[in-house]
Parts: sequence; C-alpha cells; structure tokens
Amino acid sequence: MRRPGGIEKGIIHYNREAGHGHYVMAIELPRIFGDSLPGQFMMIRKPGFNSPLLARPFSIFSRKNMEEKTVVEVIYRVVGTGTELLASCEVGDILHVMGPLGRGFYVDNRLRKIVLVAGGVGVAPLSFLAEHCREHPARKHLEIISYMGARTETLLVGIERLELLCDRVKVATDDGSRGFHGAVTELFSQDIVLDGGDETGFYACGPRAMMRKISEMSAGSGMKCQVVQQVTPLLVRGG
Ligand SMILES: Cc1cc2nc3c(=O)[nH]c(=O)nc-3n(C[C@H](O)[C@H](O)[C@H](O)COP(=O)(O)OP(=O)(O)OC[C@H]3O[C@@H](n4cnc5c(N)ncnc54)[C@H](O)[C@@H]3O)c2cc1C
Repeated sequence: MRRPGGIEKGIIHYNREAGHGHYVMAIELPRIFGDSLPGQFMMIRKPGFNSPLLARPFSIFSRKNMEEKTVVEVIYRVVGTGTELLASCEVGDILHVMGPLGRGFYVDNRLRKIVLVAGGVGVAPLSFLAEHCREHPARKHLEIISYMGARTETLLVGIERLELLCDRVKVATDDGSRGFHGAVTELFSQDIVLDGGDETGFYACGPRAMMRKISEMSAGSGMKCQVVQQVTPLLVRGG
C-alpha cells in the first residue's frame, strides 16, 4: 500500500521559465499527493544522474486532484547542480519524488484574517495556503492579505495567482521596479499594528534575512507567526 513519504514516479507536464532563472514545474503524481497540505514539501530527484546524488526539497505550490492522479506544481530558482538539472527537464520526463513531507501550516478555525509574507520562491507554500483556504468550507470567507517581495518586478513569480486568491496583495521590490521600493519586511512592518490581533494569523516564507527580520518582529510584538524554512541543511548541499 502507498504511504506518504514513499518514493514515487512523477511525469513532467510542463516546466516553464517564469522569470530569470525561475521555473514553474507541474508533475503528475499518484493520488497519495492529493492529501498534501500547504507548507509541506517534496524531495525531487532526476533518476539516472549521480550528481547530485541526493534529492532536493521543494515546497508544494499547488495541487490538482484528478480521478487517479494528482498534478503538483513547484516554483524553483536555479542555484546549483540539482536545480540546473531540473531546468533542463522536458515534458514527459520522469522524476523520482518523495512526499508529501513536513507538517504543513496550522489554521485555527477562529481566525478571521490571515496575513502572508512571501519573499521570492517563498511564495509557493503561501499561495498554496491561500488556495487551500479558498477551497475549505470553514475558511473560504477568511480575509487574506499578502505581502510579496522580490529583487525586481520580473522575479515576482507566482504573484498573479496570489492576486486572484487574496483580498489584497502589497508588493515590494529591492530596485523599486514595482510597488514599495525596499524590503518586503519594511513594507510589512509599517502595517503590523493594523494587522495584529488574536483573530489574525501570520505566515511567512522567504530568504534567510527576511525570516530573521520576521522573527525579530514577532518576538517584539507578540505576533504569532508560522514559517516555512526553505534552507537546505549543509549535509544535503553538494551531495
Ligand atoms: C523544506 C524546503 C523547501 C524548499 N522549497 C523550495 C522551493 O519551493 N523553491 C526553491 O527554489 N527552493 C526551495 N528550497 C531550496 C532548494 O531545496 C535548494 O535551492 C536546492 O536544494 C538547491 O539545490 P542545487 O543542487 O541546485 O544547489 P546546490 O549545488 O546544493 O547549491 C548551490 C549553491 O546554492 C546554495 N544553496 C543551496 N540551497 C540553498 C537554499 N535553500 N538557500 C540558499 N542558498 C542555497 C549553496 O550554498 C550553494 O552555494 C527548499 C528547501 C527546503 C529545505
């Protein structure tokens, strides 16, 4: 019997460049992935290659359940050998996929509003969270406010979907090419007083510096924030 966390064969449906060095890939997987929760991830490896030997982790961006299959999307940024190999994959190629892994976000049914803070590819689990809430009978009326940041406008990968799902999306770019000129945490910190309160849940995912800032802010304000760390342990790197 199939169990979550086993290694499954995935078939690539598409693998599109969506911004400089950023890709959105859709993979057809067995129905076991149909129960994936926002915040969970999967380990992906292209079989037949020794370098890298180990699978790489990627957050689930979306999943669509079909009769017997589930199509899962990921957003990835090319940073090294594993992600370069993924970028070279074509429609119909086979991948080895282990998952879904991790605990996923907790959404308290008493919440009235959720605030998402995404940096770069950190948008993937947060967009999935917004989608999941919109499909959930007890959560679809939640107010969803998003903050998304990237280096420049063309790297706001996944923002269109966020705009469809959320009541409001506030944007920050490091170079000022779209929205607020500066870090997304700076933009978010201007609103944090307005967005606080027990009926608001905060969720964040992004680069290390952004997560450090968010944790400092949450320690100082009492804001309860759940985060996804997209930081690969040293053991995995280069393996
Ligand atoms: C739970 C989890 C979820 C993740 N989800 C996503 C996702 O949705 N999209 C995505 O693009 N990435 C995600 N990542 C990061 C992704 O796994 C790494 O970018 C990937 O493993 C790099 O593999 P590589 O072989 O291309 O690079 P490597 O050859 O292993 O490394 C190349 C260079 O990139 C640096 N590097 C490697 N990993 C990271 C990292 N996580 N952050 C910063 N620098 C790094 C290395 O230090 C090295 O300098 C996630 C990581 C974790 C742990």
